[in-house]
Order: sequence, then C-alpha cells, then structure tokens
Amino acid sequence: MKKLVTVLGATGIVGSKAIEIIRENPEKFEIFGISGHSNVSSLVSFAIEFSPKYVVISNLVLFSELEKQLNHLNIEILSGDEGLTFLASQKTDILVAAITGFAGFEPIFKAVNSGIDIALANKEALVAGGHLLMPLAKEKGVNIIPIDSEHNAIFQCMMGQNWSEVDNITLTASGGPFLTKKSAEVQNIPPSEALKHPTWNMGAKISIDSATMMNKGLETIEAAWLFDIRKEQISALIHPQSLIHGIVKFKDQSVISHMAPADMKVPISQALAWPERLKIKIKEINFTEVESFDFQEIDTGQFPCYGLAYELIEENPCYSIALNAANEIAVNLYLNYKLQFGDIFTLVAKTIDMVQVTNLTDYQSIIDYDKYARDIAVSLKF
Ligand code: MG
Repeated sequence: MKKLVTVLGATGIVGSKAIEIIRENPEKFEIFGISGHSNVSSLVSFAIEFSPKYVVISNLVLFSELEKQLNHLNIEILSGDEGLTFLASQKTDILVAAITGFAGFEPIFKAVNSGIDIALANKEALVAGGHLLMPLAKEKGVNIIPIDSEHNAIFQCMMGQNWSEVDNITLTASGGPFLTKKSAEVQNIPPSEALKHPTWNMGAKISIDSATMMNKGLETIEAAWLFDIRKEQISALIHPQSLIHGIVKFKDQSVISHMAPADMKVPISQALAWPERLKIKIKEINFTEVESFDFQEIDTGQFPCYGLAYELIEENPCYSIALNAANEIAVNLYLNYKLQFGDIFTLVAKTIDMVQVTNLTDYQSIIDYDKYARDIAVSLKF
C-alpha cells in the first residue's frame, strides 16, 4: 500500500529532495499535501505534477497569486499559519517536517497531537519545545524519525539495539567553512564566505549555523530530547570528510557507526521508507579513494556558539528557547549585513543572560516565550 505523505517546507532543499524521492518511487508514495513559504513557482509545479489534496503557502501576501495559477485544478489552497497547522493536523501516514526554524514548531506540535508520524528535519522545534513534544509523541504513539543526518545516523545505529546498553553517542561535524580560521579572522567575514559549506548543500540558515557551529550545539540539545539521554552521554567531534555521521558506543566497548555519502537523500529516504529502504541513485563512497578518517575535538574558544548551546542541555527549557530565538534573529541580521559574524555569539549570549525563566506548561507558552526572547534579541544594539 502506498504511503500518504505531507511535505511541509516542500520548496526548500530538504523538502525538494523528499519530493524527488517520492517522484522516483510512485508505487510507494502519494503526496497528500505540500506547503512552502514564498516560492510560488515551485509550489505550482509540484501541485500540477502530484495533484495533492492541499497546497499551503505560509506567506499570506502570495495567496492570491498561487490561487490564480492553480484555480483550474481540484486542489484546496490555504495560507498562513492557520493553513499550515490545518494541513499538519490532517491524517497522513507520514509528515515530512522540513520547515526551517521555530516556524516549524506549531505545525509539528499539531501533527504530533493528531497522532501523525513525523520525518523530522526541523531541529529548532525540539530545541525549543522538546520537553513538551517528546512526552506528547509518546502519549500519542507517534514515531519521530529524524532526518537531521547525524540523528538519522544514530537512529540507524540503534536499530535492533537497546538504549539501556548505550554508554554514549557522538555526533560528527564537518567543521564548516571556517574550520582552519581563527576567531579574529572571521569577525567581519561576509555572508558569501560563510555560505560556502565544504561538504553539504544546505539552506542559508543552517549554512550559517554550520559556520558558527551553533548547528552542532543545537543538534546536541536535539539529541538529548530525541533519544532521551543525558548530557554526559552526548558529544560531538569534527570529522572533515563528512562520511561518518553518527557513532554509538555500547557498554561492552562495541562501537557502531553510520557511514554514508554526504547527501541528504540518504536520511530522507531512510525516514520516508522506514522500516524499509529504498534504492537511491547518488554518488557512492569509493573506499579506495578515502584517504583518511580524521577526528578532532571542537575548540569552544574558536566556536563559542557550540559550547554555549551544549551547556544548555538539561537546563531550564527557557534558555534553549532564548538561544534558538536569538540565533534566528542574529543569523537573519548577519545575512542582511546588519551584524558581524563574530557578534552572532555575543547577541545570543546576551539574550540568554537577559531572559527571566518562567514555567512553560503548554505549547502557547512556548510560542509566547519565543516571542519574548526575540523582542529582547532585537532590542540589543551592536
Ligand atoms: Mg545535521
């Protein structure tokens, strides 16, 4: 039987790859709904190709343009956050959550609450709301299959294994474009340089997060929630070849690691097809051409964003929300030439210093707290 799939963030890099995999496997998948933020032409072409039941554009301003181009088809077109949460709550077999940033939190929450399995590419939702999302997923019997390549690697290492026998896990990091540069050298470096990732092809937000290594910090928080493990069991290492994506060490000192080409099609296809696997066509690893597997510790002096995020595992969730909110503000300012690269860390650290913690008991309180932290981050002057 075909799996019915909803793809949120269908026009981004991860979402488009999910669509590509679905296109290559028409006997396995059928698209139920898609969403995009502002890329009308991609949404129109996906809609014409796949005839989904729903198409959502989250940018309200573009609704009429999308509607005009699709009005000859029998497709329901929705917009804004309301459209997004409506689509996310509709019953499908799996929902690909590929919206970047905290914007993904509410639709993911709604999908989990509706009992829908999630292929999760969005790490910010767990960083900000893991303390609410994971217990809810358990209560609703929802499977969350990570698409973030390191977490998907750990997920694969753990198939047939038992978490009670795990000593620790290691997430790998390419080191990003500034691995060999000193902090002073990158203080004023322009976005064009920071966007040049050495091994992965990704969206702008995550590329900047990789350059600061905030991405790896967010991933350690994500891992703690996703796998329900302690801070001391989680670490990250730089592995510039980006071939080994995750490592699990068991109590008998056995190590299982996951290796794959640095192509998001691997984790996306694994998550979509799980518990099966799909045949995908990408450049294979040629072992005779692999010169070495290098590993090194992350220098938190060089990459303070990593250290800052890691320290927040097991702390009050307010701090992780503030970290994520301030980081989204800082990255956006930087991409618009309104903040220097080196000040991304300073803005985030100052925001965390300034927030007052409170009790976050429901999803609305998380959304409100994110807004509160953003207001503080925006008010800081550099
Ligand atoms: Mg990752």
